[in-house]
Amino acid sequence: MKIGVLSVQGAVTEHLRHLEQCNVESIAVKNRETLQQVSGLIIPGGESTTIGKLISIFGLADSIRKRSKEGNLAIFGTCAGMILMARDISDGLPGQPSLNLMDVQVKRNAFGRQQESFEMELQFNSLDHPLTAIFIRAPIIEKTGSGVTILASLPEGIVAARQDNLLATSFHPELVKDLRIHQYFIDMCHSLSS
Ligand code: GLN
Repeated sequence: MKIGVLSVQGAVTEHLRHLEQCNVESIAVKNRETLQQVSGLIIPGGESTTIGKLISIFGLADSIRKRSKEGNLAIFGTCAGMILMARDISDGLPGQPSLNLMDVQVKRNAFGRQQESFEMELQFNSLDHPLTAIFIRAPIIEKTGSGVTILASLPEGIVAARQDNLLATSFHPELVKDLRIHQYFIDMCHSLSS
């Protein structure tokens, strides 16, 4: 089983390193050929508008949507990746690109200026002890559809959620040593390919 990291912009190498540390074969996904090889895809943090525009230009957006709808690709979006997966973006720019995969409404820049970046201990459902979560100009989930399970929340809103083969976090698990969130996603990919 191979897991890809969407490699057009953003925190790509950190995710690849975490997958390696979890002993999973990983690959940088830059085109449709590499996308076809993977059972799981991580969409990293970065700039959602830039990533969204580039994946449309490279013809990747439609292929990701298609494989996700067919149910043979698990997808994990972190931060900008979460924004790209959302059905609705409440403060999106005109023409804001979206993959429109997950039944959630997000707010892109949900934490005010003074809180643009912060780190905290966060309780994540199904993990027995909290994890250190790093938020960088992070989005939150404001609304969820009925098929969405909330995995972690703050007073400001939901910061991790799952819908079938889709996982999204507002924070950056690739920036801490803890591998549990990557392992959680790897387990999702395993159950898909078994
Ligand atoms: N708020 C940024 C965006 O709109 C995401 C920030 C991040 O990925 N660290 O893309």
